[in-house]
Amino acid sequence: MPYNQHVSDGAHAPINADTRLCGVFGHPIRHSASPAMQNAGIAALKLNWRYLAFEVHPDNLRAGIEGAKAMRFIGLNLTVPHKLLALEIVDAADARARLWGAVNTVVFETRDSAGAWVPLARAGVDAIQEVRSHGFNTDGDAIVQSLKEDFKWPDMSGASVLILGAGGAARSAALRLAQEEVGQIYLVNRTGERARQLAANISEHFPHLTVIQGYPRDPVDLVINATSLGLKAGDPLPIELAWLQTRRPARVFDMIYRPKETALLRAARNAGCRVANGLGMLLYQGAEALKLWSGAPPPVEIMRAALQKNIRD
Ligand code: NDP
Repeated sequence: MPYNQHVSDGAHAPINADTRLCGVFGHPIRHSASPAMQNAGIAALKLNWRYLAFEVHPDNLRAGIEGAKAMRFIGLNLTVPHKLLALEIVDAADARARLWGAVNTVVFETRDSAGAWVPLARAGVDAIQEVRSHGFNTDGDAIVQSLKEDFKWPDMSGASVLILGAGGAARSAALRLAQEEVGQIYLVNRTGERARQLAANISEHFPHLTVIQGYPRDPVDLVINATSLGLKAGDPLPIELAWLQTRRPARVFDMIYRPKETALLRAARNAGCRVANGLGMLLYQGAEALKLWSGAPPPVEIMRAALQKNIRD
């Protein structure tokens, strides 16, 4: 029997001994919209899988990943604050995860009859012996895809971009935007040293790109909020309001998707900027993860509808 045994109808099959698991580890995790999105995708692909959200403390991340491997989970997503640490834990990491220094998707793999590593979902149950965790990063491509779609902006080359934050998501965004050949990247972060390290890292990989710490004097084409400010009601703005109102950047993107409109997006909209939230980014990183696990084209529109419903609820 194949490990990714299919069910006959589009709805979820009843849970039985063949049901396989995947999920997301985070701390906290209760806000996650990933289970709604992924389970809709899994049902549409007629897979007898379930995707659950697990509250995992960073001290237990290694035990959690090893446990999922031992239980032959299909795969995992990792969210705040696990993405950087996971890179040191997985058995193998692909080039994007290594470049961006973070893992947001783990595929559990076994060897096929020729000795090549393949996702568990594509191996026969009886053929599974040795299992390894393979880390990927689908965040960087997702943010670019979402920016292009949300702002109808196919070519970002030469753009000047202000990134707020210097954590895992800021790093993936900055390095991926560098690959899009943006012209300048400005970095602003609470902890200046982290922004300095990120700037050095970008310059190491993209020596011709201008990377500057601090607010630009001129208007920019894009501001990205990659801090966690805005997740909680009453959070201060992640940006200097006077700068936003006087420089009026063309586009403001907030990686946060719940609430749908953060205080930053409201202030930016009122200042006349075009705005978008992190829903598209969540969608595309999740769709790519499901593709990595299943090998099937992800049902993107079904996943988008499930996300939109979940965010509204
Ligand atoms: P990290 O924990 O790696 O980074 C958090 C960032 O937020 C750091 O720059 C940190 O600054 C800053 N920050 C946290 N608290 C404060 C504060 N009180 N004041 C000022 N700055 C603060 O998280 P990630 O990079 O993984 O995630 C960042 C954001 O992006 C989160 O809101 C997350 O939900 C969102 N996200 C959305 C995704 C999507 O699919 N839509 C995908 C990934 C992330 P410092 O360095 O000083 O600590």
